[in-house]
Amino acid sequence: MLNNNEVQGTVPIGALVKTSLVDFPKKVSSALFLYGCNLRCPYCYNKDLVTGSFADFDAVSFDDVISHLQKRKNVISGFVISGGEPCISPYLKPLIAQAHELGYAVKLDTNGTFPDKLSGLLSDKSLCPDFIAIDVKTSLDKYQLLGCNAVENIEKSIKIISELPTERREFRTVLVPPLVDMDNIKKIAALLPEDASWQLANFKPGNCLDESYNKIIPYTQSQTEKLVNSAKTIIKGANLR
Ligand code: SF4
Repeated sequence: MLNNNEVQGTVPIGALVKTSLVDFPKKVSSALFLYGCNLRCPYCYNKDLVTGSFADFDAVSFDDVISHLQKRKNVISGFVISGGEPCISPYLKPLIAQAHELGYAVKLDTNGTFPDKLSGLLSDKSLCPDFIAIDVKTSLDKYQLLGCNAVENIEKSIKIISELPTERREFRTVLVPPLVDMDNIKKIAALLPEDASWQLANFKPGNCLDESYNKIIPYTQSQTEKLVNSAKTIIKGANLR
């Protein structure tokens, strides 16, 4: 099933949500959350995946995932590959290729730090994701707070994804108070295409990678509304998820 020396069918690679109505727009999907991430966002809720604490979730192997996709191909039409950061996983390409062979539409969730890998996928028909969602976590001047020093890569990825048709892309931002205020909203909006689907989400403390973030109080409803309304004045497709 696999011919790349870096990958093996039976080792744990991530966690699988077998049926999801929320991870792939307009599709019933299965969502795979791959282990490992190159960033360390302090508010990250997926710390078990990022740090590889497999004991804390039911890990699946590549073979488990493909077997699941084979069994469910008549009832599920979408396959989401998320993380962690899927672009660092040697399993990404084989997963996309196999899912496409089985007839699935593939959605890729990315943090945008690997524009060259995105370009490589998009230029190969068998590996080209049918939908890409990119997290634009804050304005470029604050990305170093997430452990990212190559902000030019974020900018490049946003440009690459902006060139996809509207119905094949999404931009996402979590409204974490220290990272996203009114000024950051305006700066992020300036990076996005006018016709972007920009999905904003409230910050939920409780299981953050950096425990000090669990003490951060999320925006109130009225503060959130102000941020979302400001986003909408620049990007009509901004929406609170
Ligand atoms: S929020 Fe996403 S990009 Fe950031 S550390 Fe967590 S998995 Fe990685």
